Amino acid sequence: AKNPSLICAPVMGDSVDEMVTETCKAQELGADLVEIRLDSLKQFNPLEDLKIIIQKSPLPTLFTYRPKWEGGQYEGDEKERLDALRLAMELGADYIDVELEVAEEFIKSIKEKKPENFRVIVSSHNYQSTPSVEDLNDLALRIQQSGADIVKIATTAVDITDVSRMFHITSNAQVPTIGLVMGERGLMSRILCSKFGGYLTFGTLESGKVSAPGQPTIKELLDLYNFRRIGPDTKVYGIIGKPVSHSKSPIVHNQAFKSVDFNGVYVHLLVDDLASFLKTYSSSDFAGFSCTIPHKEDALKCCDESIGAVSTILRRQSDGKLLGYNMDCIGSISAIEGGLRSSSNPSSVPSSSSSPLAGKTVVVIGAGGAGKALAYGAKEKGAKVVIANRTYERAVELAEAIGGRALSLTDLDNFHPEDGIVLANTTSMGMQPNVDETPISKDALKHYSLVFDAVYTPRITRLLREAEECGAITVSGSEMFVRQAYEQFEIFTGLPAPKELYWQIMSKY
Ligand code: NAP
Repeated sequence: AKNPSLICAPVMGDSVDEMVTETCKAQELGADLVEIRLDSLKQFNPLEDLKIIIQKSPLPTLFTYRPKWEGGQYEGDEKERLDALRLAMELGADYIDVELEVAEEFIKSIKEKKPENFRVIVSSHNYQSTPSVEDLNDLALRIQQSGADIVKIATTAVDITDVSRMFHITSNAQVPTIGLVMGERGLMSRILCSKFGGYLTFGTLESGKVSAPGQPTIKELLDLYNFRRIGPDTKVYGIIGKPVSHSKSPIVHNQAFKSVDFNGVYVHLLVDDLASFLKTYSSSDFAGFSCTIPHKEDALKCCDESIGAVSTILRRQSDGKLLGYNMDCIGSISAIEGGLRSSSNPSSVPSSSSSPLAGKTVVVIGAGGAGKALAYGAKEKGAKVVIANRTYERAVELAEAIGGRALSLTDLDNFHPEDGIVLANTTSMGMQPNVDETPISKDALKHYSLVFDAVYTPRITRLLREAEECGAITVSGSEMFVRQAYEQFEIFTGLPAPKELYWQIMSKY
């Protein structure tokens, strides 16, 4: 097996002092080595400056002097540039990086003088696209033949599926190979290198201070994605969306994975086409996904088995089939069941296989996404479902689809077929800023034993406040929100979720 991948911090100071300060910062943040980008220095006296940097850097050094023609900033004489790199080697650099175009001659020129643990990285950059596997293989071979100790190929992701070809190269490489795909669509290549055999990844000191597009920070690699926990057997999960970088799901799930020592990593996946993503990453390594805007509809089409809308996909490890789950449904039903269970007298608790919703009347207000999910779920649990909606036709349509009854919103106040029924608001009424709105009169609430509100801003809506005053059990939308996350953990891992941890983390957002 290959060694775990290293984290290299690109250091791009204007001055030698700044370079030295940044190498110390890189060490504090947890990097393994620093890449000194000599082409970012405003003034450079090779002998003097290289000595200082090498002496003062607390981490192993990689020197790169990138010319304009390869995407760097150096515009001067080529001989001077290569002389400076040779000098860095003589003064004790651990690595230098040279571009493929000049590598062969350069390596010949240092052959006799190469210190024992010193290594030459030969690099090639493609700022437009990612070539085919065949072309990448040819390129890697040419780099190797130039005399490289370490092969470096950086390409650009036009689509997230481009990254799979780079994984193919690093996984099968016979010599140490750095394979990175630039841009947000290539982010996975920078996180999963320990899984797919990459020699190193770049992690920046600060967000936005990148030496190539798409680099995460050292802190993100270590604390958000748990980089040091990733290895060949780590299962990959992720949030699929466009845009997706704002999603907090990776923060939440990675902490939970770590807390129970589950060998998984959860990443941001910027996906343009869901079907081609799922087809390309079809191995059991890519084990489960959350789907958000704009992929929810496609998610349903891509699954082999599912009910209704899909927001979570699991790849069943036994046969590779894609199973779709609706977390709105699972989250709201489990929140209501939790409320019913906690209130019932323990001696009357039915066996855990039957739902406390079985046989109960559930009045669902709303017939949108959340309303449909809840109505389907309640029906599945054996409840008698009544749909009340502002647009009556939509209530009828949903009631017919699930075999329930429809009400208009105005009839709701006078509806009480029996006592002890369940009410669930799935409209946005009562949501900030309309906190004085409520879908039902307080007087009518006395017929309900449990009232659930999908709205979670504010956490206690007017509906819930009035229901509590009438003596009903209340279940808030935040309960649904957090449960969606930890129920998803259970689907992904097959393990009991660290529920307290989910509450702690999610209460911060
Ligand atoms: P949606 O598909 O747009 O459906 C909205 C529903 O609300 C429709 O039934 C609509 O009735 C009704 N509605 C909207 N404004 C109304 C008003 N002023 N008076 C009466 N009815 C009104 O939305 P959704 O995705 O289902 O979301 C609905 C609510 O659930 C939102 O507040 C959302 O934040 C919340 N939610 C919470 C969670 C959670 O984790 N807690 C998860 C998902 C959703 P018409 O058919 O007449 O238009």
